[in-house]
Amino acid sequence: MTERLNGETLLIGLMATPIRHSLSPTMHNEAMAKLGLNYAYLAFEVGNEQLADAVQSIRALGLRGSNISMPNKQAILPYLDEVSPAAALVGAVNTVTNKEGKGYLVGHITDGTGAMRALKEEGVSVIGEVITLTGAGGAGTAVAIQAALDGAKELRIFNAKDSHYHNAEETVNKINQHTNCLASVMDLADQKAFKQAIADSHIYIDATGVGMKPLESECLITDPDVIRPDLVVFDVVYIPKETKLLKFARENGAEKTINGLGMMLYQGAEAFKLFTGEEMPVDYIRDLLF
Ligand code: NAD
Repeated sequence: MTERLNGETLLIGLMATPIRHSLSPTMHNEAMAKLGLNYAYLAFEVGNEQLADAVQSIRALGLRGSNISMPNKQAILPYLDEVSPAAALVGAVNTVTNKEGKGYLVGHITDGTGAMRALKEEGVSVIGEVITLTGAGGAGTAVAIQAALDGAKELRIFNAKDSHYHNAEETVNKINQHTNCLASVMDLADQKAFKQAIADSHIYIDATGVGMKPLESECLITDPDVIRPDLVVFDVVYIPKETKLLKFARENGAEKTINGLGMMLYQGAEAFKLFTGEEMPVDYIRDLLF
């Protein structure tokens, strides 16, 4: 690593808090080293209070870009010069580019494109498909918007009547106004509608985080009749690698169950491409990190 650093090294940041646990610095630095690119990727502990100064420092120091994570994904929007159409619809940014270090900052969101690429790599296309989605937080919104932009026919979102329900309604309105996908939202407590939606769907995506600690023994589907061999079941959680949902689906005959590792890997790969113009060596990184 130190052998690569010199006066020409270009810097990419990651601005979030807490951040020390993140896999992103290792992922990006290893990919840069593998390709012999003269970049370094560093994590900066930045919250909302430091965000304006931190964004200005991207311009002042000529960083080539930065990843953005919580709690800054929405808060960063007013500080940018431009946002991609997908980021504008999601209302959040996880990647900022500073082309040629000239100080014009563009915000992108790669969570949704990462999820769609993860599906594609498993041979699953969303084009023309009906999809049932649980969860309307950060991950759910990015996945919903990108699936709609990529040509899903219909998206049925189910969310508990909690603080995220309104966000689900907003996402549905945006999808119906700006894409050709037909979106709807219903209360997850309506189990009859939930089961019917999955019966009508080719893909079920769980973006709630249920299945991850401390909810690792929980699963939003409890009726084995809901599972069928041709139902693709995708859980955005990647620790554990097989959540209770994925195990339940596999044991009840679903032929394709997909965890969140691919989404994690490809959201990074999409950001890497935006920063460097190069394809991340994803097989190498997958073997190294996952
Ligand atoms: P969030 O808090 O913004 O949203 C959580 C959503 O899940 C909300 O819609 C909420 O209503 C719903 N929810 C929460 N608990 C629930 C429960 N017990 N029953 C039913 N619904 C429930 O969270 P987020 O940032 O969207 O993250 C969600 C999950 O996605 C986390 O596990 C996170 O680790 C994972 N994630 C994975 C990737 C990846 O690259 N694979 C990327 C981002 C997030």
